[in-house]
Amino acid sequence: MAGVQVPRIVQVEVTSACQLRCTFCARTALADRWINAHLSREAFSGILPYARQIELVHLQGWGEPLLHPRLWDMAAALKQAGCRVSLTTNGVLLDEEAVREACRLGLDLVAVSVAGARPTTNDALRVGSSLERIAANVSRLCEQKPRPRVVLIMQLMPPNLPELPELVSLAAEVGADEVVAPHLDYIPTPELDGLRAFGWQPDPRVSDLVSEAMRRGEELGVKVHVYESRLRDDVLVCAADPVHNLWITVDGQAAPCAYLALPCRDGFPRFFEGTHEHLRRLTFGDVSGGVPRVWQSRPARSFRSAFSRRQQWGQLGYLLDATLSPSATPPAPPPPPAPCRHCYKLYGA
Ligand code: SF4
Repeated sequence: MAGVQVPRIVQVEVTSACQLRCTFCARTALADRWINAHLSREAFSGILPYARQIELVHLQGWGEPLLHPRLWDMAAALKQAGCRVSLTTNGVLLDEEAVREACRLGLDLVAVSVAGARPTTNDALRVGSSLERIAANVSRLCEQKPRPRVVLIMQLMPPNLPELPELVSLAAEVGADEVVAPHLDYIPTPELDGLRAFGWQPDPRVSDLVSEAMRRGEELGVKVHVYESRLRDDVLVCAADPVHNLWITVDGQAAPCAYLALPCRDGFPRFFEGTHEHLRRLTFGDVSGGVPRVWQSRPARSFRSAFSRRQQWGQLGYLLDATLSPSATPPAPPPPPAPCRHCYKLYGA
């Protein structure tokens, strides 16, 4: 299979089920139309033969991966095939056995999501979860040698924003390597719009909190990565990087990213800057026929080429800067794919 073109990173939604009811999660907000399912053997068998050529398979979607009864079998098969494997978990089921499996299989990275650095904040936002228990589970994982890289992830929202520096201290306490703080960048209801901690003019507290978190990270030896809070209109390719990466849905469909393929009956809503729209899932085909087939499909190539043209425009921009007079108006970049125009990730969130 040498020479087959495949994505760099494949993110696999092994399940869309979850035992928590997080107040800010799309799964909670869209519960009436949500499809709870596990990835099938057929879908996984379309990925495995190509694993050697894929740099990283990340096992996580809109659900909790540790609920899949064959999660460790899938991770073992991928590792055996020679690719890097990582996952994101809510940490509830990261018990002794799960820790043993993650280390035995040589997982490359385990990210654990929390919603606050204080139990009161986390437990109120992540309904059904206990920060104390999660911290004990992460601590157990971090004591192992060798072990995966361990990352604490917290989506920034006004209620937990002030706790960002404390999260870095918590990471050091439990022995984690890194803190990553992305945003609540998909807004399915007007209520959740109020939980955005980003905007064209973000909360003025953000920059001080980020500086303090970075300072603490340096002092405690914890890497800190906080996503930009100020939206920009000069992003050419979003951080999901659909030019190189592929998303596999829980029902085995290939898609550009998590945001265009939620596991919902009859589509799903999206709120953006006061506008509301109803989206249909955008998929490129069934992965059980093999990753190259969907990756090289006409809709996948067409979606990627819209972003590639923007990248090329960006490179050309350097040349134009050098040749245009200061008063000349530079040409606009080629448009992104239509479903991306109202996605906050295209504006740097
Ligand atoms: S801009 Fe948004 S919708 Fe488009 S590929 Fe990126 S993450 Fe997905």
